[in-house]
Amino acid sequence: MKVIDKFLESHWLSKPEYMELLQAWEDVETAGRLRDEAVRLRKQYYGNKVFTRGLIEFTNYCKNNCYYCGIRGGNSHVKRYRLTGDEILECCKAGYELGYRTFVLQGGEDAYYTDEKMAEIIYRIKKEYPDCALTLSIGEKSYESYRMFRRAGADRYLLRHETADDELYSSLHPETMRLETRKQCLLHLKELGYQVGAGFMVGAPGQRLDHLAEDLWFLQTLKPQMIGIGPFIPHHDTIYAQEKAGSVELTLFLLSVIRVMFPKILLPATTALGTLDPKGREKGLAAGANVVMPNLSPVKNRKLYELYDNKICTGDEAAECRACLGRRVESVGYQLVEERGDAL
Ligand code: SAH
Repeated sequence: MKVIDKFLESHWLSKPEYMELLQAWEDVETAGRLRDEAVRLRKQYYGNKVFTRGLIEFTNYCKNNCYYCGIRGGNSHVKRYRLTGDEILECCKAGYELGYRTFVLQGGEDAYYTDEKMAEIIYRIKKEYPDCALTLSIGEKSYESYRMFRRAGADRYLLRHETADDELYSSLHPETMRLETRKQCLLHLKELGYQVGAGFMVGAPGQRLDHLAEDLWFLQTLKPQMIGIGPFIPHHDTIYAQEKAGSVELTLFLLSVIRVMFPKILLPATTALGTLDPKGREKGLAAGANVVMPNLSPVKNRKLYELYDNKICTGDEAAECRACLGRRVESVGYQLVEERGDAL
């Protein structure tokens, strides 16, 4: 029996079998069958709905120094900014009027926002918009901090594990950062009742197919509610400036694999995918994704949250982004909906 047949039947493989499946990513027939099953499952659970998450990039200060990231602390060429609580609430207001029912607060690891300040911002947003879900994406914190944010009203947390391979993790991050810590944080978040999102970059420098098989295996054990994957894209002010970007096709293949493994997963077609290919997000939806994360950050700050080069949507007002995405989503037969879009 071919591994693709086994996967389509059982939705579940061993680590060596995932490796075998990934080795077939350039095989048109395998990729096509996989995509068909991913789309079938996605439609079974979510119909033609696509959920939106209004992304608010509220600070580009960061104490970490992830080697691939444009806003890493060690990059002295970045003009740094922070949004005030009022500015963040303004973004939510604009988003709410446009139909967003989930807000994502994302930022570097910025000690200026103490736990108390964060909790207050979370509390204000949830009080003003009790019908909305609030997602945090602010990196590694202690169990107590995560608990405080949860009590203040945060519902979800995005923390990509980046790679489940120890060696690759160490090569992409400074010594102060450990894969073990990342994993521990994800477990804490689960324990505290967050809907949790893990994920990784496709084509990160040094990444091989067996690393990706390891990622799938890790996800299979973690069972998160959301999985964010996007292609690696070099940033000019990093040691990886001259590296190749990740493959769009391989990213699409992985989106389909993930949808088949976890039929109910919340799976975004990411901005990085849209940056590498003008139709990247549409292709992502057509490969099994069911979430988009348009930018709600103030236009004056957008360009400064530059994780990688040529990031799209840095000039558009929130309303333009909403309209543009609506058209894109419809072009592949789906519909943006005004819902929180919780995990099933
Ligand atoms: N500080 C938060 C948010 C990180 S930014 C945290 O630590 O979770 C969100 C994601 O962007 C990262 O998890 C990473 O996977 C991705 N990213 C960073 N640099 C990138 C690059 N050069 N290309 C593609 N994705 C990148």
